[in-house]
Amino acid sequence: MMEVVLAGNPNTGKSSLFNMLTGSYEYVGNWSGVTVEKKIGKLKGDRGRLTDLPGLYSLNPISRDEAVASRFLIDEPFDFILNVVDASQLERNLNLTMQLLECGKPLAIGLNMIDVAKQKGCHVQVDRLSDLLGVRVVPLVARTGKGCDQLLGMLAATSRELEQASTEADSGNIFSKTEPYLVPYGDVVEEGIARLIRLMPPEIRFPRWMAVQFFEGNPVVRDLLAAHVDPEQLDSLLRWAELEIAQRDGARTLSLYIRKKRAEHIAMLVRQCTVQTRGEASSLTEKIDRIATHKFWGIPFFLFFMYLTFKLTFEWVGSPLSDLLDGFINGPLRSGTGWLLDRMGAGSLIQAVIFDGIFAGVGGVLVFVPQIFILFFIISFIEDSGYMARIAAVMDRLMETVGLNGKTFIPMIIGFGCNVPGIMAARTIEQPKERLLTIILTPLMSCSARLTVYSLFVGIFFSGSSGVYCAFLVCAGNRGRACLG
Ligand code: GDP
Ligand code: MG
Repeated sequence: MMEVVLAGNPNTGKSSLFNMLTGSYEYVGNWSGVTVEKKIGKLKGDRGRLTDLPGLYSLNPISRDEAVASRFLIDEPFDFILNVVDASQLERNLNLTMQLLECGKPLAIGLNMIDVAKQKGCHVQVDRLSDLLGVRVVPLVARTGKGCDQLLGMLAATSRELEQASTEADSGNIFSKTEPYLVPYGDVVEEGIARLIRLMPPEIRFPRWMAVQFFEGNPVVRDLLAAHVDPEQLDSLLRWAELEIAQRDGARTLSLYIRKKRAEHIAMLVRQCTVQTRGEASSLTEKIDRIATHKFWGIPFFLFFMYLTFKLTFEWVGSPLSDLLDGFINGPLRSGTGWLLDRMGAGSLIQAVIFDGIFAGVGGVLVFVPQIFILFFIISFIEDSGYMARIAAVMDRLMETVGLNGKTFIPMIIGFGCNVPGIMAARTIEQPKERLLTIILTPLMSCSARLTVYSLFVGIFFSGSSGVYCAFLVCAGNRGRACLG
């Protein structure tokens, strides 16, 4: 059974492709945080297993997700890398591809978002890219499933080749059309790589990749190498390379130099295989984006959006539905049940349990269901349309001043409407500490149901100036939040 891993930058459509290729359901969202845990599915046609890795920009990990992916590639056995590349952002995406190619594992590129690239007027010459990189490239639109059959066919063929190769004990280079493209990093680094590879024991997988990552300062790789190679030799090699690079090329640090070299080569490759045309007149998304992420208009636009959300939830749709439900429960359902109970000759105790207990209790909660439903609906819309990522970017600077991240803002605002969906909206925050803080703080937002309680108490105890006291209570709730924050 062939083990395939899906690797690619966040939001390139890995999960969408995973669903298309495995036929199993998985939540598709806009956050890299959604795919923190790894997901495994069976490829359609039973040709192997597919693992969905978290999104990563580089194999030099900065975030927890990236470290998960780096560790996976180093530790776990797998046969084939399916690199998902966003055709509309080819240059940025190839940065990861070049690093994956250095592993030397068989790799194919799923060139996704062809539709978006076309809209932007960017045409990628698939055959040219494939020739340049020496790997197979399959154009895809993962959202609609276009190209997935071709990809599955390619994977099935690869799986057969793999089985044959294992019986013939000659794996050779059956997967690539030619040698895969390796970025040449210049004399000094190449010499450093060669010297480091000579120091490595034979059981180290992907020696070239390990060496490049070591010089680039990848902490996971450094720790791993230190367990196999004398740390002093590693240190002196690193110092030698740093010094040589500084003297010969005037580069500030080795890792910057390596990244610059890689970027130069990628730019050259991209120039050779893309044709830029004028693109369809700026798409609707771009027009909306320009307002939604505007420096000044972004926040008013968002507040207006939230205003519409609450209007929709509490005035236009949610409340009328709640009233309808309330009318039904306390009207026909109540009288019907009363009639039935009378006919059955139920005693007054039973009647009291049913009317004062079940109808008043459960019914009182049930009437909130339409409002919560609509809030949930709108939150999924905000998440899936990608608006949440944009609000987070707009709010980031403001929220940072109180030590929180931009994504905290949405759960809190939603918390004004109802705390339950507010807390659920917090699941998209990647940092565990910030997520926990948001979950703790959101219940301190005075939700609409709590306002009813406030007005009850204020009406009873402070009937003279109830408005002032009510405002005070709401602020007290928020003040508690501020203290905790
Ligand atoms: P992941 O982060 O790499 O797992 O990406 P997802 O699979 O979650 O996809 C991110 C977003 O891109 C989702 O809203 C998808 O519907 C959308 N998407 C995925 N593939 C395509 C595609 O080929 N074309 C377009 N236009 N959108 C896509
Ligand atoms: Mg995903």
